[in-house]
Amino acid sequence: LVVFSICLVSLLYMLIPEPPYEPQGKENATFVFLARNSDLNGVLKSMQSIEQHFNERFGYPWIFLNEEEFTEEFKERVTAETLAPVQFGVIPASHWYQPEWIDEARAERARNIMKELGVIYAGTYSLNPYRNMCRFNSGVSENEKPLKHTTSFTIQLVQPYRYYWRIEPDVEYSCEIQYDPFEYLKLNNITYGFTISLRELGHTVTTLWDNVKLFMEEYPQYIAEDNAMAFLSDNGGDTYNLCHFWSNFEIADMDFWRSEAYTKFFEFLDSKGGFYYERWGDAPVHSIAAGLFLKKEQLHFFNDIGYTHSGIMHCPQQPAFLTGHCTCNRVHTVDYREHSCLPMFKRMKNGKW
Ligand code: GDP
Ligand code: MN
Repeated sequence: LVVFSICLVSLLYMLIPEPPYEPQGKENATFVFLARNSDLNGVLKSMQSIEQHFNERFGYPWIFLNEEEFTEEFKERVTAETLAPVQFGVIPASHWYQPEWIDEARAERARNIMKELGVIYAGTYSLNPYRNMCRFNSGVSENEKPLKHTTSFTIQLVQPYRYYWRIEPDVEYSCEIQYDPFEYLKLNNITYGFTISLRELGHTVTTLWDNVKLFMEEYPQYIAEDNAMAFLSDNGGDTYNLCHFWSNFEIADMDFWRSEAYTKFFEFLDSKGGFYYERWGDAPVHSIAAGLFLKKEQLHFFNDIGYTHSGIMHCPQQPAFLTGHCTCNRVHTVDYREHSCLPMFKRMKNGKW
């Protein structure tokens, strides 16, 4: 009888279909990860965290971008971290480096002043990796020869996808994500999702808002009714309150970054040179665009996603904390701390999100 039972059990095992070995992301979506070869360890940490808390069950592909070729070691180790497809792309030089029309002497003076002021990533070197990065993430656009309009969001590897989830090195996800955020965006007609929002350093965006106001005057047709101006300004648009969504985490609809409104906005800002003459970040640039060209219902706070970047953390409170089996310390969430703009977001949404 024992032998018979063993045989029967083995037979049953053979009949049970294996779980899907390589899950396939359901939505037209991908992770996008900008990184340097030297970021490898932090890249692996971030991947482990997101694979374990989400992607092992959802199978979304990964795209890695760099202005240089990734090393064989980088590619091998990253590919070993996931069952999902992984692609590696080199950013065209024309999308990365400081454009020739930037007055380097003026840019250098600005960097020195910023350094004196003690601004992080002020940078005194003539090569500007941080500023190039911010400009690239904002959405560099240009007409290439033969004439083809490309932006960071239409470069070859990224172009086929609609939604993206931006990941950076050394970030940590601390709750189980039990649903598909991409599907959530699609079903709820949401364009932009965030977890942390903070105040920007004023010295990095001295003239940004003045230029935004010029843009609004010139292109009133792009300003949405029922927009999120109240998140960005405490006086109806006169001045910028420095609130922005922290763009190291973004789950968003790239069709927005590809839209006419955003492309015009990026080109307008870029032409002012502020990515180099100041240190405009992709976070305020994205946030201001999302805040002005979208309806406020199209912005979403992913309260249930526990997330840490450079020691700043969003940790959900109950009941999401419990259902997500979160491992973060709820007490240390940044939500209502001094530099957080979540209260402004909540107020702008009339207390509901
Ligand atoms: P922070 O989050 O503002 O402190 O800036 P990070 O150093 O994390 O950079 C933001 C993102 O851009 C990360 O994904 C980095 O890996 C990436 N990054 C920054 N500088 C460079 C660069 O020079 N080259 C490449 N390929 N990626 C960069
Ligand atoms: Mn970072």
